[in-house]
Amino acid sequence: EQQSSDEIQQQRSRLPVYGEEQQIMEAIGANPVVVLSGETGSGKTTQVPQFLVEAGYGDPASENPGMVGITQPRRVAALSMAHRVAQELGSLGSAVAHQVRFDTTVDSATRVKFMTEGVLLRELAGDLLLTKYSALVVDEAHERSLNTDILLGVLSRVVRLRERLAAEQPGVHRRLRLIIMSATLRVDDFVKNSRLFRDPPPVIKVEARQHAVRVHFSRRTPAPGQHLAEAVRKVGRIHRRLPAGGILVFLTGQAEITHVCKRLREEFGQPGDEPAAGGGGGGVEADDAEDEDVDLGAGDFAAADDDDFAMGSSDEDEDDDEDGEPVIVGGDDDAEGRRLLLGESLRGGGDGAAGRLHVLPLYSLLPAAQQLRVFAAPPAGARLCVVATNVAETSITIPGIRYVVDAGLAKEKTYDAQTQVQRFTVRWTSQASANQRMGRAGRTGPGHCYRLFSSAVFNDAFARFSEPEIARMPLEGVVLQMKAMGLDAVANFPFPTPPDRRALRRAEQLLAWLGAVDGEGRATALGRLMSVFPVAPRFARMLVAARQGGCLPYVVAVVAALSVGDPFVRDHALADADVEAEDDAETRNLDSAALAERERRRGLRKRYWAAQARLAGARPTSDVLMWLTAVGAYEYDGATQAAADAHFLRPKAMREIAQLRAQLMHLVHVHCPDTPAAAAEGPLRPPSAQQQTLIRQIVLAGFVDQVAVRADLAGASGDVAEQRPGLQATAYVTMWGSEPVFIHPESVVYRGAGRAAQQMPHAVVYGELQRTSRLWARVVTAVDPA
Ligand code: ADP
Ligand code: MG
Repeated sequence: EQQSSDEIQQQRSRLPVYGEEQQIMEAIGANPVVVLSGETGSGKTTQVPQFLVEAGYGDPASENPGMVGITQPRRVAALSMAHRVAQELGSLGSAVAHQVRFDTTVDSATRVKFMTEGVLLRELAGDLLLTKYSALVVDEAHERSLNTDILLGVLSRVVRLRERLAAEQPGVHRRLRLIIMSATLRVDDFVKNSRLFRDPPPVIKVEARQHAVRVHFSRRTPAPGQHLAEAVRKVGRIHRRLPAGGILVFLTGQAEITHVCKRLREEFGQPGDEPAAGGGGGGVEADDAEDEDVDLGAGDFAAADDDDFAMGSSDEDEDDDEDGEPVIVGGDDDAEGRRLLLGESLRGGGDGAAGRLHVLPLYSLLPAAQQLRVFAAPPAGARLCVVATNVAETSITIPGIRYVVDAGLAKEKTYDAQTQVQRFTVRWTSQASANQRMGRAGRTGPGHCYRLFSSAVFNDAFARFSEPEIARMPLEGVVLQMKAMGLDAVANFPFPTPPDRRALRRAEQLLAWLGAVDGEGRATALGRLMSVFPVAPRFARMLVAARQGGCLPYVVAVVAALSVGDPFVRDHALADADVEAEDDAETRNLDSAALAERERRRGLRKRYWAAQARLAGARPTSDVLMWLTAVGAYEYDGATQAAADAHFLRPKAMREIAQLRAQLMHLVHVHCPDTPAAAAEGPLRPPSAQQQTLIRQIVLAGFVDQVAVRADLAGASGDVAEQRPGLQATAYVTMWGSEPVFIHPESVVYRGAGRAAQQMPHAVVYGELQRTSRLWARVVTAVDPA
């Protein structure tokens, strides 16, 4: 399994980066910041740290005694790359260490340290000059993770500061080198951004030999959820029909991967020679921002239909599912490869009797030892098949891959500005990502990439590039994280892609109201505590406020529900009672089937409104309290599909709420040791009147900036209240605009008041504003219910 040092030297010398050592080291010597861009697999991650070591970096006796630090967006890469570089360095291998959250091998002999971006960001909070490093390599910068962007902004300043101090006090301070490494994607955001780097850093492009890859689109795009069955089918066909070469499958997360691995092993593995997949990944730390596939949606894919795995039946496998002529990509000077690919028949080209398939999973939460197995040669006679998340897209190059099967999906954190909700969504990846995945097949020789989606979908539904994470995040969350790190002047911060300035200011203002930052814009102790919860700061504020006082379980449930979003089925055909009157006028034109259908819908609506009335209670004054009742009722009824149906709740939302509740409760107990232990126990019983008052106050604390007062009481000029005479709605005014706001008819507060203006609450807080013909306030809670 271990390679000899000769073998390793030979391999090294074949890497494109290896030939560029002199150019790269000269650039690093002459410039404080250097950008290195090169095709994935060209040797950037494994070779550049070694060049630095060989040039004396990290040697206490040299003029660059500080360590060489390399950051990775993911733990998998930090661990596997540390391992590989240690191996390649031979006798110096013990000088290579890794550090990820909860796990480090760093000691006094360490000269090269691979770490996650999160680790370096936390070190910055303690030592802004990063004095223990002489060179820092920010790897995978093209991924544009939020941490990459913030790190680059900070490091641009640290480098400048160290430069100045080294000039002023040469005996005390030394320079810091920054190397930014990126796959061959846009580097302009770094290079042409004069706020980030006053002098544009030199860009070194490493040309890698990329073999031709033949791209096969599917004729049809599988229905949502069917891509797993498709992936299994496709792997089976490759394995049975095509010549030797590893297969790499791209899926979105742990649950999908475990499922597909199991299927493939049942079909093609040999019993007893594989350990159970996954093995839990060493404790899922749900609070770990470094793990990009913390799996909130795990349940969704586990139940793929078994019938779809009817593999190996004799009449399948006509090549009817491919989308016309395959496209050949890459392979600049690889004419022979092209001929090979074009001439290679899909039918009958294989080895005949398929051997065993050596199936390995690869995702971030997998224990390190299992991750490293993808680099070892498969057992004799077996074909390697790695089923991976997008960690295999650019951070890790698996040797010998010749076939890529790409579902085209990625699980991403998204942000809905409307609801201020972050969540993990599975959606199409970008064209750039899909092309990176495709390129994985052309490292060793010409290859094939099977896309489980049509070329039309690729052209029309895929974005060209993935958006930087900072554009997909609510800003108050980002700003709170930065301030918790000690970065106070957020508006002046040199972001690679700056967020909107007004939005930034408003985020700071909100944090001040929540008590998370002080008058100087610095994080308070409260703000630092809030920053550990993976929810919007206003919700984190509610959690912290609730840890005493006996209503913590309720507030945890409220925050989970608010974070996940409206738990109710809001089918308009179902909920819209007003259409009934119109229906009546048309009755005589309907045939009996239509009449029956209308009766059915009427019955459904009746049950829906009965369920709503049950959950709303006698005198409803808050949507949030109604959601809480819904969560309790669902749990009381066994948390089953039937329970969801009975209350007209969305089962998926209810599952997510349950998962988030467990995670948040855990975090409260870890980070707020003064929390009464009993608070965690027992099912959610209906809150007492006193508890309801407390919950209401805590909700107000979270939405301090989203208060609306009845216009006729707010001293608003009469015209606001009278603007729309005849419409049965009561106008409210907010702190923000002159435009009147109306409580959405879907709100239980609106329904509770029976539309009578005098019964509408004097003041409310709202969770969101929605614009249609008017500005509607939704998720409303009366501030002071009479
Ligand atoms: P880049 O950073 O440019 O994408 P890398 O330095 O990660 O490239 O990889 C260079 C080569 O080293 C790849 O071809 C890969 O196959 C090989 N390699 C990397 N890690 C390992 C490992 N743990 N075992 C064997 N080979 C590896
Ligand atoms: Mg790399």
